[in-house]
Amino acid sequence: MIYETAPAKINFTLDTLFKRNDGYHEIEMIMTTVDLNDRLTFQKRKDHKIVVEIEHNYVPSNYKNLAYKAAQLLIERYRLNQGVTIKIDKDIPVSAGLAGGSADAAATLRGMNRLYNIGASLDELAILGSEIGTDIPFCIYNKTAFCSGKGEKIKFLNKPPSAWVVLAKPNIGISSPDIFKKLNLNDEYHVHTQMCYDALTAGNYQQLCHSLSNRLEPVSVSKYPQIAKLKQNMLNSGADGALMSGSGPTVYGLARKESQAKHIFNAVNGCCNEVYLVRLLG
Ligand code: ATP
Repeated sequence: MIYETAPAKINFTLDTLFKRNDGYHEIEMIMTTVDLNDRLTFQKRKDHKIVVEIEHNYVPSNYKNLAYKAAQLLIERYRLNQGVTIKIDKDIPVSAGLAGGSADAAATLRGMNRLYNIGASLDELAILGSEIGTDIPFCIYNKTAFCSGKGEKIKFLNKPPSAWVVLAKPNIGISSPDIFKKLNLNDEYHVHTQMCYDALTAGNYQQLCHSLSNRLEPVSVSKYPQIAKLKQNMLNSGADGALMSGSGPTVYGLARKESQAKHIFNAVNGCCNEVYLVRLLG
């Protein structure tokens, strides 16, 4: 049996530049990973089936599961004539802006690569993963990176300075395509991509906190004002910086000290069912 962890990602920045001819937005984002994980196991099967075992009300266990899609693609591409049982123990909130599904798909590519001794490099797995979803290549490596194109072009950056992260997901689910549809590229909003890039290069925590910015945040906030309230609550209770991740609705706050992070955790714990106190991994 092979075991893999699939950590969640957060955006330090997210910018959308223009709409491409293929319908996707050209994006630029700086992302890192946090210590909030799904856990997956992989076992060979004698038949040719792909079986996903997951107990979750909002996540399918059939061919629609991103882990299933990743397994299917790997089996086809490397002409494996065996199946796999994938068990997913899910801790990452779903439809939250934390790329939980992509993390599971990436873990599946890594896990099955080991299970079947395929010998593919991480770069090869990332290219394969990009056929299923734009966040999957990032999730293959689980580092800190500047991602551009549809999200699949990756340039690794320095690990962020160590910090605590409080993640809180309001009790709503957001579909990313919905938010992208509502996005108006003419709306004035400055994303501090360069400042964030420089902050990571210099290991400057304060500058990193000032650079947090996400062009999708005002779009999601206009539909769900509670996101803005949650962010303000985090800042009022001592977060050094706070931001909505991805298309939301999860908001995270950064804190240098554990006591500070616990204070933020307690302040937002009443308003959301899903609140986590974790660390930046990067
Ligand atoms: P992103 O930040 O990449 O937009 P997200 O965190 O907003 O991702 P996910 O949790 O990845 O969203 O899930 C979005 C949708 O994908 C849900 O409707 C869910 O049912 C479906 N899905 C398919 N496979 C998975 C999986 N393994 N884990 C979670 N969701 C999955």
